[in-house]
Amino acid sequence: MYKVFEIREKNIVRKNLLRADIKVAICYPSIYRVAVSSLGYQLIYFLLNSQEEIACERAVLSSQKGPEPPVKTLESGSPLKFFDIIIFSVHYELDYPNIARMLLASGINPLKHKRGLKDPIVVVGGPPITANPVPLESIADVLYIGEAEYSLLKLVYEIHALENRKDLYKISDIKGVYVPGSETRAQRAWVRDLDKAFHPSSQIIPLSDKSEFQPVFGRAAQLEVTRGCGRGCRFCLLGYSFRPYRERSFPVIESLLKKIIEKNGVLKIVLIGSSLSDYKYLQKLLETCIEENIQASLPALRTDAVEDEVLELIPRLGQRTLTFAPETSIRLRIKLNKPIENSEIIEKTENAVAKGVKNIKLYFLYGVPGESKQDLIEIVELVKRIKNKVKLSKENIRVSINPLIPKAHTPLQWTVIEEVSILRRKRRFLLEKLGSLARVEGYDPFEAQIQALLSLGGSQLGEIVAYVAEAGGGRQAWRKALRRFQINVQKYLEKTIAKEPWSVVDVGVSRDFLEKEYKKFHEGILTPPCSTFCSKCGVC
Ligand code: SF4
Repeated sequence: MYKVFEIREKNIVRKNLLRADIKVAICYPSIYRVAVSSLGYQLIYFLLNSQEEIACERAVLSSQKGPEPPVKTLESGSPLKFFDIIIFSVHYELDYPNIARMLLASGINPLKHKRGLKDPIVVVGGPPITANPVPLESIADVLYIGEAEYSLLKLVYEIHALENRKDLYKISDIKGVYVPGSETRAQRAWVRDLDKAFHPSSQIIPLSDKSEFQPVFGRAAQLEVTRGCGRGCRFCLLGYSFRPYRERSFPVIESLLKKIIEKNGVLKIVLIGSSLSDYKYLQKLLETCIEENIQASLPALRTDAVEDEVLELIPRLGQRTLTFAPETSIRLRIKLNKPIENSEIIEKTENAVAKGVKNIKLYFLYGVPGESKQDLIEIVELVKRIKNKVKLSKENIRVSINPLIPKAHTPLQWTVIEEVSILRRKRRFLLEKLGSLARVEGYDPFEAQIQALLSLGGSQLGEIVAYVAEAGGGRQAWRKALRRFQINVQKYLEKTIAKEPWSVVDVGVSRDFLEKEYKKFHEGILTPPCSTFCSKCGVC
């Protein structure tokens, strides 16, 4: 367990809890170093603490599975039960049992119908919840749908004003709020103008040198440059549930960059944006970082959007690794609406290495509906061709292979993940063929099945998630739970997706649009990106 105050941090906010009108604990259902690496989590912390009436403290898990000691906040060591509201920020479906583990370890029943009137109100939000909150309906009192800046403060104030938890239905008309059992279909909350949205310039920076307390990207602060994506890759949750593409203007980014560097005492900035290569001022931003001697780290870039001038700057920013996501064969890439030519991927990778990039990382999917052995062979061929061109050793090429997990509110929401045995066979094939070319990594197919279950599943899953938590979490607990509740993932999903449980949420993209996109997926017809043509998906 983390001892309170053992983790020295810059910019920690300490308020007197006894004097605060509203006490909020924000929990990240994972370990410290994952939590501190999440800009979304930090944003909520500083947003809530920007209010005089609210005192907000953080809590994390001490381990990913097994018995968990009583959860205490990092700021004051207070137990979760002491707070009025507990907010979970979750970014990954496999962390759902960790929510229940944190509650259990705090003496709070994970199933809400077993909680008392005096127990804190449990709010859960994050990208997977925005797409489908239903699996956690029996755990969360309230689910937050969309972007925190829009109405999270309003939600906190309105919860505080309620007499007790029985009145929660009264707040179900707040945009972005889903109260299970209410008649209202929750509307996703999203900010139109990123320039006006709150961005934490002071951020939590761990001062400890211990690796368990270091963010996954090292000692750095984060800057969100763009949000959402208008490219419409048909498998991507962020491409639909976080539409449209938005960006911060250059003057705002420049001023944020300056403040972030000053207030956090770091020399490295992690640039955030699911579609960062589409940022109009990317080159200018990177040049500014170089002029100011700031190291920068960039997420995966699109080979069809990133200019050679940008590639040239990357090694000068201290970034040694460049990440691209070719996903699959060109045939399936077109079906997935990501029409990038192999030649373009090879050329961009070659250019990047020629300019000084030392390592490359490539993301691939397998288990795409309609996939044949030839598609897998083409993945291997592409990696071979890249390796031959860039002349990097196996150690400098990382390939991540993961099963495609269909997500709610995407055109692939009507498809079921492939069976474990089929995925295992495909994985073995890829591992065998790619093993001599690159370092290969990726999810285990069983974990992918569980993720698929939680992505498209219904309300029955809450009880199962609580059971998994009681069994300590992890793979063995899931196996036990599937046996105990007699769940066959494929059969369960076939039945459940026909009912579309996630339709309790309106993310803005119309069902009609998704149906057309699903048809176009099967026919291999492309839809242009929002930047060139508006396909009237319903969001803007
Ligand atoms: S309404 Fe048009 S521009 Fe807006 S997200 Fe949908 S397709 Fe893109």
